[in-house]
Amino acid sequence: MGEESKWREYWREHDVYRFDPHDKSRRTFSIDTPPPYPSGDFHVGNALNWCYIDFVARYKRMKGFNVHFPQGWDCHGLPTEVRVEQTFKIRKNDLPPDQFVEMCRKLTAEYITKMKQSMNLLGISSDWALEYKTMDPSYYKLTQLSFLELLKSGHLYRGEHPVNWCPRDETAIAEAEVVYQERKGTLHYIRFGAANEGIEIASTRPELLAACAGIAVHPKDEKYKAIVEKTITVPIFGQQARVISDDEVDPHYGTGAVMICTFGDKTDVRWQKKYHLPIIKALTENGRLSVDDPRFRGLKAEEARKKIVAELQAKGLLNKTEPITQNIGTCWRCQTPVEIIARPQWFMKTRDMTQKVVEWAGKLSWIPHFSKQRLVDWAESLDWDWVISRQRIFATPIPVWYCTKCESTIIPDEKSLPVDPRKDKPPEEKCPKCGNRELRGETDVLDTWMDSSITAAVHAGWPNKSELFNQLFPADLQPNGLDIVRTWDYYLLVRSLALFGIAPYKTLLINGMVKGTDGRMMHKSYGNYVVADEAILKVGADAFRQWAAAGGSTGYDIPFRWNELEHGKKFLTKLWNVARFVLTNATDPLPPKKPSNLSLIDSWLLASLQKLTQEVSEAFEAFQFNTALEAIRNFTWHALADDYLEAVKHRLQPGREQSDLKATQYCLREALMTVCKLLAPICPHISEAVYHQFPSGATKSVHLENWPEHEKALDDTSIRNGKLLLDLIAHARREKSSKGLSLGEKVKRIVVSTEAEHLHLLKENEETILRTLKADTLDLERLPSNSSPGREPSAEFKVEIVA
Ligand SMILES: [Zn+2]
Ligand SMILES: [Zn+2]
Repeated sequence: MGEESKWREYWREHDVYRFDPHDKSRRTFSIDTPPPYPSGDFHVGNALNWCYIDFVARYKRMKGFNVHFPQGWDCHGLPTEVRVEQTFKIRKNDLPPDQFVEMCRKLTAEYITKMKQSMNLLGISSDWALEYKTMDPSYYKLTQLSFLELLKSGHLYRGEHPVNWCPRDETAIAEAEVVYQERKGTLHYIRFGAANEGIEIASTRPELLAACAGIAVHPKDEKYKAIVEKTITVPIFGQQARVISDDEVDPHYGTGAVMICTFGDKTDVRWQKKYHLPIIKALTENGRLSVDDPRFRGLKAEEARKKIVAELQAKGLLNKTEPITQNIGTCWRCQTPVEIIARPQWFMKTRDMTQKVVEWAGKLSWIPHFSKQRLVDWAESLDWDWVISRQRIFATPIPVWYCTKCESTIIPDEKSLPVDPRKDKPPEEKCPKCGNRELRGETDVLDTWMDSSITAAVHAGWPNKSELFNQLFPADLQPNGLDIVRTWDYYLLVRSLALFGIAPYKTLLINGMVKGTDGRMMHKSYGNYVVADEAILKVGADAFRQWAAAGGSTGYDIPFRWNELEHGKKFLTKLWNVARFVLTNATDPLPPKKPSNLSLIDSWLLASLQKLTQEVSEAFEAFQFNTALEAIRNFTWHALADDYLEAVKHRLQPGREQSDLKATQYCLREALMTVCKLLAPICPHISEAVYHQFPSGATKSVHLENWPEHEKALDDTSIRNGKLLLDLIAHARREKSSKGLSLGEKVKRIVVSTEAEHLHLLKENEETILRTLKADTLDLERLPSNSSPGREPSAEFKVEIVA
């Protein structure tokens, strides 16, 4: 079938996918490809995503666009650091930062090489001349520039606010990085205050008693009316907690009274602010108890809980316990339960932008439409600003210094970027505000989404706003998975609105997730995980790509099924056989134009081909890849191979009339060439292989060919009449084989009875009928007409075979 790798080599050699920035004759089509984390694994979910992108890129090239299809790598951040820590069995602080970063860079480079190989294996047509890595100084310089621009335009601020915190990774994380999981816990009923005037409070986190800053009850809860605004002593740690009443309290949970800890959850954050409660920092950044009491100081939350419960029990302050199922927030990366910790952080003012985000979401084109709501719901659910600082190492440094005396922020000149305040000298000798000579570089780094949320502008050449920038930005296409609508699509949108005042993309193409063969979401821990390379090496890229196209409607989850990959492979074999037949039987030079002496069956084939071209073009325009592929496979398998080829084989025999032969050859070649082009975006390898088999000789890649055109008005008459004729032939064949006659066996006579209006048509095509069915004579008889106005003209046949 022509080894796929041979054609990938051909494409590379001929630089088929190059974007030409100087070409003024074609319109550009820009794709803001998601830069994946270089994790080394290119799983079938990634592969699905990239197939969709590639289908569009290849289709648009053939439609005459100058396609801008870059591929980048989102190198920075937690995932890579965690991988380095795991691979080398170290913690980030065991080494000087420079060395740790170097290890991250090295590992990242290895993973990029692996993933690049997988993308190439899949036949992805990205333009590698446009490759970028967010860890390169040339890239993160732009991340820093965007930070300074947002700072100057008032979109950023530094402040001490509670944020989600991963105690394992010791860093702030964004709301989008918190994953909620159901876990089993215990509800402890704890006695607060003196025996005669105290109350009972149920809590799943007794270790937070040390951080208890208040107690909340419902205003209508009669049993607590008398104690509102009084203070009650917290057991073990002894601080005084003020009782407040608030509508948000659920009087039916536990005892109806709840601890307000700084901070147990988001409600605590709200109540602390609303009621001006003190902030008691009881947890360190690595999740250990920081209390004066030496019995508990330094214990991890889990250990502290056990010890405190034992202590409560010993003192008779634990009334009872109950098992409970909780929905708790965990770190997306390491599954550790997140804490809420306040420390100075950098924020982007995203809450103020919600209205704008929702407005813009409505102006964009979403494929499928329902994915828009994901973004809108997410934007509206956010009640904190985006925390953009991280307490990690392998990331873009935050380009600021501080005065150690007055805490003024000192920023570098844009021309000096990139900078690393962790080691570079400050841009000023002394604080411009107070003259202090002691300046300190920021040690925090930027959230990795700060790198990857400016890709569309970076591809377009920003900060250079040339003519090309205006052509490529906003990107024509933003393709990504449903799972990152709330992160990537959201961050891209807020950053672009703040930096440029417009959305960074026009159309969002969203793919669903891949389910394993067991019907569950594909996941490493479920044992149903498939690496894309394994599947591609087994069945070939073109078969794999058919699964991606045919697996389901765009945007919906699709199951991974080996038999669908096998089905794809079978189709390729069928197509290859058809191509071989056509090209060995249609080697003669052909008339340049459509011959005039076409039989009905020829006209039917050409009209069906027009219809197919129309259907497939419309499906690609609507990103309905499954519709496109099904139409092509049906046509090739049934219309071309089963029906047409069988009905015209006799015309290719030696001694046949030249004009018939030419007409048939013309139709066969036309059909094969059109199928080859229509299939090229989905099955690029076999399309190229077939294209190069044509006797005219290929001078370029099929991927540089023009997309087939179709006439506006379809030849419905030929389609209808041709189908009638083929129906009859199929009917007669069944009749023949039911008599135990092989299809090639000669018969004397065929008697066909049908409605009067079809007799003329059959008479006209007598020769096709006789030759296809290997019969000597055809007798046509008349059946009473069953046609009525408005009824589809399908014929009823009675066929008798006389051997
Ligand atoms: Zn974590
Ligand atoms: Zn100062």
